[in-house]
Amino acid sequence: FAVRHRVDEIVVEDGRAVGVRGATLVPCDLDRGVSSPREETGTFEFRGGAVLVSSGGIGGNPDLVRRYWPSDRLGDAPGDLILGVPEHVDGRMLEISGTAGANLINRDRMWHYTEGVANFAPIWPSHAIRIIPGPSTLWLDATGARMPVPLFPGFHTTASVEAIRRTGYDHSWFILDSAIAEKEFVLSGSEQNPEMTDKVVKKFLSRAKKGLPPSVGEFAEKGVDWVVADSLEELVTGMNELVREGEPELEVEKVREFVLAMDGQMDNPFAKDAQVQAIHNSRRVLTDKLTRIAKPHKLLADSGVGSGSAAGSGGPLIAVKVHLMTRKTLGGIETTLDSQCLRPDGEPFPGLYAAGEVAGFGGGGVHGYNSLEGTFLGGCIFSGMKAGRAMAREV
Ligand SMILES: Cc1cc2nc3c(=O)[nH]c(=O)nc-3n(C[C@H](O)[C@H](O)[C@H](O)COP(=O)(O)OP(=O)(O)OC[C@H]3O[C@@H](n4cnc5c(N)ncnc54)[C@H](O)[C@@H]3O)c2cc1C
Repeated sequence: FAVRHRVDEIVVEDGRAVGVRGATLVPCDLDRGVSSPREETGTFEFRGGAVLVSSGGIGGNPDLVRRYWPSDRLGDAPGDLILGVPEHVDGRMLEISGTAGANLINRDRMWHYTEGVANFAPIWPSHAIRIIPGPSTLWLDATGARMPVPLFPGFHTTASVEAIRRTGYDHSWFILDSAIAEKEFVLSGSEQNPEMTDKVVKKFLSRAKKGLPPSVGEFAEKGVDWVVADSLEELVTGMNELVREGEPELEVEKVREFVLAMDGQMDNPFAKDAQVQAIHNSRRVLTDKLTRIAKPHKLLADSGVGSGSAAGSGGPLIAVKVHLMTRKTLGGIETTLDSQCLRPDGEPFPGLYAAGEVAGFGGGGVHGYNSLEGTFLGGCIFSGMKAGRAMAREV
């Protein structure tokens, strides 16, 4: 186990992978995920009976993500992309494995998210935190139109990426209130923030007093993508302050129309709004009802009279400018069912194996074009197990 050893080449002799070469890097004791210095101190070469590549995906390398972006399926590659994985997830080993003679496939398969916000205390460059939302947030695209049914928050990742890219912009808007944020916003990746890992709960609790849930309070206060307001007018003014040059401003009357359309159905057990139906449906699972889905309520206090403005019983209104953010790589090194790499002619590559995200979580793309949330580590472990057993047999 050799830390600060960066592989730059797979050693191939007589058509067989027999080791790796690379550079030793200057020692450092930076925290996990922080970009570390790349200054070289020397070279190394290790040899073995077989070589396993398990170097992860390309999500920390926006240039590679854009190069292989599936424009035909998801619209043009985004210009504005924040990063949901550390800088070391740079995809270099894919090119290095290809140069050694391994076949790379399905490079256009990727799994990115629509709900990224900039980390106010970034660990790596362009560090994105993902909001894992529940169903109650109103979701508008960059032009202020409501996202199409059934693309409610958290419902269909890849289809939502496509819908957002088809608008020509890289962001969209979440509109909710404090009660929804408290129950439904989980921040994935924020465990990287020292305050959370150190479990400094006092600071979090103090925020609750301001009417914001502790879990999102610091993001709402310090994050660049958040607006908190007591009225809809104030909220939309704040949202427009986050709009950059070339991006459309939002019209308060249009936003109000969508808020009232949803609010107006909240009391109706036979709601006609598909999203309100989805909220009711989600609450049929007892555990979700208790822990994950806010009690249906109106965002605005006076929505019944058709001119809603002030925040309702759910506390201050919140708007979040959410961005496309990278995460997983669904294609990569093609392998056999034993995780042995294949050459471009389809023949197994003696001595070379690949497992985990670098192999598209197994085989070169076991998920296909889509995926199911949370099923990625399983592919890493399974393809690693297959590789381990085959390598043990081989050596
Ligand atoms: C915030 C976050 C949340 C996630 N949540 C989930 C989840 O809930 N469920 C789920 O299933 N998946 C989740 N994932 C995805 C999952 O964690 C990754 O897909 C998985 O960890 C990839 O494992 P891996 O071993 O293939 O690659 P990695 O964990 O990326 O490890 C690759 C290693 O190779 C090293 N390396 C790379 N290149 C070189 C080189 N040239 N020389 C030497 N070393 C090198 C890297 O430094 C790194 O240590 C999440 C990912 C992130 C970032």
